[in-house]
Amino acid sequence: MFDETNIAEEKAWLREKQATKAIEGFRKRRINAQYVKDKGEALSTILQMIPPGGGVTVGVADSVTLHQIGVISKLKSLNQNEVFDPFERDDQGFYTRDIDTVFKVMRRALTADYFLTGANAITLDGKIISTDGTGNRVAAMIFGPKKVIIVVGVNKIVKDAEEGIRRIREVAAPMNAVRHLIKHHNKFGELPCVRTGFCVDCNHPRRNCHYTVIVEGAIEREKDRNHIIIVGEELGF
Ligand code: SF4
Repeated sequence: MFDETNIAEEKAWLREKQATKAIEGFRKRRINAQYVKDKGEALSTILQMIPPGGGVTVGVADSVTLHQIGVISKLKSLNQNEVFDPFERDDQGFYTRDIDTVFKVMRRALTADYFLTGANAITLDGKIISTDGTGNRVAAMIFGPKKVIIVVGVNKIVKDAEEGIRRIREVAAPMNAVRHLIKHHNKFGELPCVRTGFCVDCNHPRRNCHYTVIVEGAIEREKDRNHIIIVGEELGF
C-alpha cells in the first residue's frame, strides 16, 4: 500500500541531485565538499575530521545549524580540544561573559586550527554566501583558521548568488534577528525586518547583515581549506 500523502522520498531524491551538482561546482573551485544523509552523520564526520588532543584548537561561529547537529556541545563534553566559543550563553540565553571578552574570544577563534560555521546559502555552481552582523564568521571563511568546516542543510541550496543574497534578505537575516530577540534578549525589535517581516535595506546601527560575503573559490595553495558538509535535512535559517 503506498501513501500518496508522503513525499519524503521524492524530496530526498531532489535534494541529493542538487547536492551532487553543488559538490561538483565546489570541487571546480578548489573547495572540498561532501553529502551526508542526516545530522548524526554530519556530527560523526566532523568529529573524524578534527584530530583529538595534540593542542589542536577549534573556533566556532554562532550557528543554529551547528547547535542542531550538537557538535559544539559534543566537542566541549569530549574535552579533547580547546574550543573557542565566543557565543557561550547561560540557560536564560545571556552571554556568560562580558562583551569585551566575547570579542576577545572571537579574535582567538579566528586563529584556531579548525573553524566550524554554517552559511546562509550555497549555489549549484559552488559558491558560498553568508552574512554577518560582526563579521567574525565570514572573516574566518576567507582567512585565519587553517581549516574551515562549513555545514549546511539542503534548504540552503540555491541556483545562483543573486538568489542567495535574496534568501539572506528575505529569510535568513530577519529570522536570525528574531531568534536573537526571542532567545537572547538582544535589542533587535527595532529592526525594520523584525517589525514588518520584510527587509528595507536599512542602515540601522544594529543591522545584523552588515557583511555579506560570497566565497567564489580558493587560491591553489589553500585548496580544500574550506570543506562543505551538505546535510540531507533542513537545518538553520
Ligand atoms: S538590511 Fe536591515 S531590514 Fe534588511 S534584513 Fe538586514 S537588518 Fe533587516
